[in-house]
Amino acid sequence: MLVVGGGPAGLGAALGAADAGAEVILAERYGFLGGNATAALVMPLMSFHTQRAAFERPDGAKLFPTDHGPGEPVVAGALAGLLRRLIATGGAITPGPATGYVVPFDPELLKLCALELLDEAGVRLLFHAFASGVLADGPRRGVVFETKSGPIVIRAQTVVDCTGDGDIAAAAGARFEVGREADGLVQPMTLMFRMVEFDRAGFEAYVREHPDQWRGVHGLWDLIRRAAAAGELDLPREDILFFGTPHAREVSVNSTRVTGVLGTDVFDWSYAEWRSRAQLRQIVRFLQRRVPGFERAYLAQSGVHAGVRETRRIRGDYRLTADDVLSARQFDDVIARGSYPVDIHNPKGSGTVLKRLPDGAAYDIPLRCLLPEGIDNLVVAGRCLSGSHEAHSSYRVMPIAMATGQAAGVCAALATQSGIPPRAVPAGDVQAELVRQGADLHRAA
Ligand SMILES: Cc1cc2nc3c(=O)[nH]c(=O)nc-3n(C[C@H](O)[C@H](O)[C@H](O)COP(=O)(O)OP(=O)(O)OC[C@H]3O[C@@H](n4cnc5c(N)ncnc54)[C@H](O)[C@@H]3O)c2cc1C
Repeated sequence: MLVVGGGPAGLGAALGAADAGAEVILAERYGFLGGNATAALVMPLMSFHTQRAAFERPDGAKLFPTDHGPGEPVVAGALAGLLRRLIATGGAITPGPATGYVVPFDPELLKLCALELLDEAGVRLLFHAFASGVLADGPRRGVVFETKSGPIVIRAQTVVDCTGDGDIAAAAGARFEVGREADGLVQPMTLMFRMVEFDRAGFEAYVREHPDQWRGVHGLWDLIRRAAAAGELDLPREDILFFGTPHAREVSVNSTRVTGVLGTDVFDWSYAEWRSRAQLRQIVRFLQRRVPGFERAYLAQSGVHAGVRETRRIRGDYRLTADDVLSARQFDDVIARGSYPVDIHNPKGSGTVLKRLPDGAAYDIPLRCLLPEGIDNLVVAGRCLSGSHEAHSSYRVMPIAMATGQAAGVCAALATQSGIPPRAVPAGDVQAELVRQGADLHRAA
């Protein structure tokens, strides 16, 4: 079977399918694994723990979220394996109260750990292969890749689309939705970057003196206003957002924002690269000139591209809604769970909407969300699975993407082994295999 895309969902899919006994090829457009986690420098992994709201950590460490109370993990399986390996190499910090339950990680070590895990699982890799379409009759006849060696067709009985954008499903004619139900607008793009030689003590001293100027992982409103008045800064965001990493003298900055652009439109994405890089230049200068702790800091790396939060959501046999997420709905065909809030960066400008689940709660994602309506031999996972704009803003985060990927891989493997379409695989069989692989389905199988 074939997995297209080597991001969090694709890693989960390849590992899940291989563990279920399938022969797996993973094809990826870049020369490394990790998807947004490495290509777009999206850090950290957001929380996969249940939470209690309005919790302020007293220790004054201000580089991780402070609004996440104690919680229990709701994702395990392939994610747990990746984290064990990353933490053992010093490439990640165990999530808990000290990290606000996010997982700070090193993207270079994640690339290496992901490669090791796929190697050990016997997954065959094709890098530098961009899937540009499917042959007539759908993905079973073959997925077409553009490569340096010319076009290549890979035929597989079952294909898992982990491109984030649902490229294979869309090419196969699947129905999809884009953006908000009212106006089709999607969440903004953000070019992320890493700054090093950051002096944490200097920054914390500023925050201690100006406690109203930093909330958890974002703020600096007064300094921004002053820089804007001086003509140094012109940003759509009203604040600066950055996170700590496993390295004491490094921060990961998530503060550029380009609205009104769609990641499946090459002209939009080109504009976003141009626009976000101009913002990056301003933000780096602003931090160096005006923010204590950044006097000697410098830009070490920016994403390979501006990060794309939202494009197609492939219509599946079930469409997950905000109500399902926020009421922590359970489904008989659960294949993954999530606890991350609805978290929507304003598609039109500044501001972010955050809606939390009830204390201690998690929601189920049903297998039906991975099965594109009316298309056989194809399973989707990650941020392109079936749901509403609001629900997507929760299930798009990397731990959940990895969990839905693992489930898609297992479903595709069982379908391939039995010579049946993924839709014909009983949900109970997928659940039983996922549980055998260590996934956390809470009450299934
Ligand atoms: C700016 C930004 C900040 C975010 N912040 C966080 C955060 O702090 N924490 C968090 O957990 N999540 C965060 N997210 C969300 C998260 O990064 C993504 O939703 C998640 O990575 C989705 O995983 P995925 O595997 O579905 O897609 P991706 O990570 O996008 O991976 C898709 C993979 O498929 C490959 N691919 C795409 N198209 C093709 C093709 N046609 N042919 C071959 N290969 C292809 C890509 O190169 C990539 O490797 C953020 C996202 C963005 C953009």
